[in-house]
Amino acid sequence: MIRAGLFGGTFNPVHFGHLRTALEVMEGFGLDHIHLIPTANPPHKDKKALADDSDRFAMLSLAIDGAPGFSISDAELKRPGRSYTIDTVRQLTHSFPASTQCFLIMGLDAFMEIDTWKDYARLFEEISFIVMSRPEDRNTILNDGFTGIGEFLQKTVSSGYVYKKKENCFLHETLMPVNLFDVTALGISATAIRELIRKGRSIRYLTPEPVISYIYDKGLFA
Ligand code: ATP
Repeated sequence: MIRAGLFGGTFNPVHFGHLRTALEVMEGFGLDHIHLIPTANPPHKDKKALADDSDRFAMLSLAIDGAPGFSISDAELKRPGRSYTIDTVRQLTHSFPASTQCFLIMGLDAFMEIDTWKDYARLFEEISFIVMSRPEDRNTILNDGFTGIGEFLQKTVSSGYVYKKKENCFLHETLMPVNLFDVTALGISATAIRELIRKGRSIRYLTPEPVISYIYDKGLFA
C-alpha cells in the first residue's frame, strides 16, 4: 500500500511554512509521497496578486529540488476553468495505482471554510483528511481544544463524526476520517512575504534562497 498526500495551495510564493509542515505531515503519517498542487484559478483568492502559473510552478520546483518524496502536480494548472478540489482529488486518485491510500492535507483555516467549496460533502465520501493546526489557529478556533472543528464537522458535514482522542481523529461509520495534526509553529504566510517585498524589506529565511533569487530576478510581487 502506497500512502500519498495531496497538498494544494496558491504557493504565491511557496515558503518554509508550507515546506516544513508538509515534511512533518509526511513523517508523521508515514506518507511515501507528497504532491504539491498549485492551484490555477482559485475561487477564494484575489487573482490580481497572483504570480503567473509558470512562476509559481518554477518556485515550487526550486523549493523542493532534491527533497525525497516531494513532487509537484500540474493537474490544476493544466485543467481549464476554476480549480475545484473535488475535481483534482478525483483526477489524481484515478491516476494513481489502485492500492494508493490518499490524504488531502490542508491548514485548519482552509478546512474551516470547506463548506464554501464545490461539492464539499462528496470530499468526505472520497478521501481522508489531514488537517494541520497553526499558531494563529490555536488562539482563535482551538481555544476550546478541538471543539471548534468538531462542532463545525458535525454541523456542516455529518453529526455522525466522533472525536477519538487516542488517534486525534474524527471517525465516522461511513464517511472518511478527518485526522488532526499539530505542526511546528511557523508564522509565515505568502501574504506577509509579498508585503515585505512591496516595502523593500528582506524575505531572507522565510523561503529557500533559490526561491528568493527567482523572485528578485523576475521582479515578482514588487
Ligand atoms: P496567502 O498568504 O497568499 O493567503 P498562504 O501562505 O496561506 O497564502 P496558501 O498557498 O494559500 O499559503 O496555503 C496552502 C495551504 O498551506 C493552506 O492549507 C494553508 O493553510 C497552508 N499553510 C500556509 N501557510 C502555512 C504555515 N505557515 N504553516 C502551516 N500551513 C500553512
